[in-house]
Amino acid sequence: NKQERMEMWETIQQALINEQIDQFRAEFIELHPYDQAKIFEEQTEDIRFLIYSYLSPEEMGDVIEHVDRDSVAGFITEMIPSFATDILQNMATDDAVDILNELDKNKVASFLTLMKKDAAEEIKELLHYEEKTAGSIMTTEYVVIHLEMTVKQAMRHLRKEAPDAETIYYIYVVDTEKKLAGVISLRDLIIAEGDWLIQDVMNERVVSVPVGGDQEDIAQMMRGYDFLALPVVDFQNHLLGIITVDDIMDVMEEEASDDYSKLAGISDVEKFGDT
Ligand code: ATP
Ligand code: MG
Repeated sequence: NKQERMEMWETIQQALINEQIDQFRAEFIELHPYDQAKIFEEQTEDIRFLIYSYLSPEEMGDVIEHVDRDSVAGFITEMIPSFATDILQNMATDDAVDILNELDKNKVASFLTLMKKDAAEEIKELLHYEEKTAGSIMTTEYVVIHLEMTVKQAMRHLRKEAPDAETIYYIYVVDTEKKLAGVISLRDLIIAEGDWLIQDVMNERVVSVPVGGDQEDIAQMMRGYDFLALPVVDFQNHLLGIITVDDIMDVMEEEASDDYSKLAGISDVEKFGDT
């Protein structure tokens, strides 16, 4: 309830002021990252630096993912570069790309050189897609299985891949050329017999979006079909990534505020003119 929240907030604030890392962590770590972000955003620069030293890159990454979009770039750039880099490379690739897109080119380049090679490569690939297209909002962390796998093999694969996947509700099926051939929900996979073939249980009529597709159209499709995710393909139907419903919620928020600005007659230039 509200009273408890106030007290908890007070405890955290006191722990920060008194530089008591254990007290701070005991309360803070238990909170949902959204609440953590709300607390973090209200701190002064000095206290923010304390928080950077009290949390691991993974923990801080969860906070950063929930911080207001307009302030993220500022926070990331004030951190020690190696710490910021660790945060970025531990995040879902699409979220890291969102943040990097807010930074200037030199900063992006310097972060990329500090990253592990494979993390940097994955991010670089996504950075190439044009703004507001499917490619720019998709993530490359999804579960993909092969047509000829058995259900049992697919489950084993899923168990291995699940920790890093953005969603596991839908598992996309590809053929030998990595072309999108079908989709199966986790629910359907679980109820299938272990020795059945994926190609016999999957849904072949899979809806996908083109990598260059406009994000607003994709938002509309997501709402219309009521899926939790959509696969993204190139013109030859190769599977490139997925877009999840939470990515779409960010898009809808962004589009709504764009529309609002237009309505109010405020251009982007004026909006950011004084910063
Ligand atoms: P239901 O709505 O039937 O109770 P559910 O709630 O478990 O199912 P939904 O998210 O509604 O799951 O998905 C319904 C079905 O849509 C699943 O069988 C899934 O395989 C299928 N599906 C998921 N993504 C796609 C897609 N891109 N194209 C076609 N079908 C899809
Ligand atoms: Mg449903």
